[in-house]
Amino acid sequence: MISIEHVSKWYGTFQVLSDCTTQVAKGEVVVVCGPSGSGKSTLIKTVNGLESFQEGEIVVDGQSLRDARTNLSKLRSKVGMVFQHFELFPHLSIMENLTLAQLKVLGRSKDEAFDKGLALLDRVGLKAQADKFPAQLSGGQQQRVAIARALSMDPVAMLFDEPTSALDPEMINEVLDVMVELAQEGMTMMCVTHEMGFAKKVAHRVIFMDRGAIVEDDRKEAFFENPKSDRAKEFLAKIL
Ligand code: ADP
Ligand code: MG
Repeated sequence: MISIEHVSKWYGTFQVLSDCTTQVAKGEVVVVCGPSGSGKSTLIKTVNGLESFQEGEIVVDGQSLRDARTNLSKLRSKVGMVFQHFELFPHLSIMENLTLAQLKVLGRSKDEAFDKGLALLDRVGLKAQADKFPAQLSGGQQQRVAIARALSMDPVAMLFDEPTSALDPEMINEVLDVMVELAQEGMTMMCVTHEMGFAKKVAHRVIFMDRGAIVEDDRKEAFFENPKSDRAKEFLAKIL
């Protein structure tokens, strides 16, 4: 579903991604971890075209991001992205947040978009909040709305960038539960997270990044039981 081949990126003379290569198969859940500043956000943003890159190739669902013919807004609508900060539209109700892109990007009818929005709100346990505004919801609820909004586009894959790291501790699990459910339903997912409990539960593979490079890319069991590099060992020792 996602193929990243020898991707390198520079900000001026600073190399932020260094020859990154990995693949995510359909239905696979890959957790990306590593120290702060190692390039995790940048890597994940290149996958849906939010960041450009100078070398290498990324193909998502058969479409190359290098190919000038690729319609980036169409590609972005196929790949859902959830960030650390919820980024809901503050002036729109929860339901309007859920229907806007369905109407504008997919050209769905109002009824269809509303039904889809309601079904997704139900799925994340927030059906009763449809007419509220984002500021009236807790951080955990807002993040669940953000996930529902991404799902409203029927994405072929979902990207998460530290979706729980800005949340109060008591709200982390309600968001992780939604992500676990998605993973168990077979969604293709790339998740930047330091929630190793989540990784242990649903990840198929773990990628460890350091200084812009993919240092380890291994089956979950192998990563946790026997990390190869000293850098991954140090990292795991700190966070586990
Ligand atoms: P992570 O998500 O792993 O913390 P990032 O991908 O956000 O790492 O950042 C990787 C590195 O790139 C950091 O050193 C960061 O300071 C640098 N960086 C990120 N964005 C920019 C930018 N727009 N211009 C210059 N450097 C940047
Ligand atoms: Mg980051």
